[in-house]
Amino acid sequence: MNYEVKHQDIRESVARLCADFPGEYWRRCDRERAYPQEFVAALTSAGYLSALIPEIYGGSGLPISAAAAILEAIHRAGCNAAACHAQMYTMGTVLRHGSDAQKQKYLPSIAAGEIRLQAFGVTEPNSGTDTTALRTTAQVQGDYYLVNGQKIWTSRAEHSDLMLLLCRTTPRDKINKKTEGLSVLLVDMRGVSDKNMLIRPIRTMMNHSTTEIFFDNLAVPKENLIGEQGKGFRYILSGMNAERILIAAECIGDAKWFIEKSTTYANQRRVFNRPIGQNQGVQFPIASVYADMRAAELMLIEAMRLYEQGAQPGEEANLAKLLAADASCAAAEACMQTHGGFGFAEEYDIERKYREARLYQTAPISTNMILSYIAEHVLGLPRSY
Ligand SMILES: Cc1cc2nc3c(=O)[nH]c(=O)nc-3n(C[C@H](O)[C@H](O)[C@H](O)COP(=O)(O)OP(=O)(O)OC[C@H]3O[C@@H](n4cnc5c(N)ncnc54)[C@H](O)[C@@H]3O)c2cc1C
Repeated sequence: MNYEVKHQDIRESVARLCADFPGEYWRRCDRERAYPQEFVAALTSAGYLSALIPEIYGGSGLPISAAAAILEAIHRAGCNAAACHAQMYTMGTVLRHGSDAQKQKYLPSIAAGEIRLQAFGVTEPNSGTDTTALRTTAQVQGDYYLVNGQKIWTSRAEHSDLMLLLCRTTPRDKINKKTEGLSVLLVDMRGVSDKNMLIRPIRTMMNHSTTEIFFDNLAVPKENLIGEQGKGFRYILSGMNAERILIAAECIGDAKWFIEKSTTYANQRRVFNRPIGQNQGVQFPIASVYADMRAAELMLIEAMRLYEQGAQPGEEANLAKLLAADASCAAAEACMQTHGGFGFAEEYDIERKYREARLYQTAPISTNMILSYIAEHVLGLPRSY
């Protein structure tokens, strides 16, 4: 695994931090559906969540491969970065498209860990994957936008100070292309009343702090518009390759955790007077997911190489996310099967990680949407939707 030599110092120090958050910590959070405050605080004070913020704004200005190494190491250690990974990359929209005043106002405090920008409100109950059909509106009234509508699956909203919100500023029947007329607002959620913005947690199969949010005449200052009004969809898309790459790194970390657990157990567990790992029926699924993981990892390396050269590697970033999410799910399945009945026992952490790994087939983008992207944009097949 020569690839891991890259950013090895980061991987090792993240692993040391994660050692303070063993399975028992995650099991308790999972049982109580509690936000892993202590873990997020430790990552924040170690500076890992500001890895991608440029040094002029107080961050570390590291390349995307360093951020990926951090997230992979977290997941490889059996921890879960989903509680805070968005703090790493959601700020990218402000960095790329925000005004100088917005960057000066927010990025240093985000880098210092004083405020959190880790809520990202795009998905709505009615539009789902069809983002441009979203119905939340923002209408100018004096110096403010008045926001009305509803978002769903807005993760970490209760643990974030700011939210990036995609909403419609021009009605769909008054635009030429459906991707126009959408805008991004930076919503400061501190001190907002429930009457204007009601956040309701949604309990999910894993511990994820996700919510639905109802907006009723929420007033957002006009100065909080990111970039130009009506161009928000483009701004959101511009961050997708980075997001795909970072999620792929988490999936690779999960896959490695499952594979390590599987091989350790298969060597130790003796049934019929021999280690179960001596049976090819037990070995082959583990060897097979190892091959899947390495192939996905190579695609991830390629996506990061191109990204760090300044390219927008849509094909490679999407393929990396697709292959890595598949590899982590297959590794989760192999790990469960290797452990027999014990895979189901909470104390082994496998059933928890199994539930956590499953999310990446659906969010932040579902597998079908990646296949559609490949079919249309890489293979030149007709657009299907
Ligand atoms: C735990 C969790 C956290 C999330 N966090 C966030 C967040 O922080 N912010 C946010 O904005 N969103 C978030 N999401 C939303 C997530 O991105 C969406 O669930 C996902 O994009 C799918 O949208 P949907 O659930 O409405 O599914 P739908 O759009 O209803 O789709 C249902 C199924 O049909 C498939 N499908 C739909 N249309 C097509 C088509 N044309 N071709 C092929 N297949 C199709 C989909 O791939 C999917 O498998 C989160 C979701 C979950 C579950």
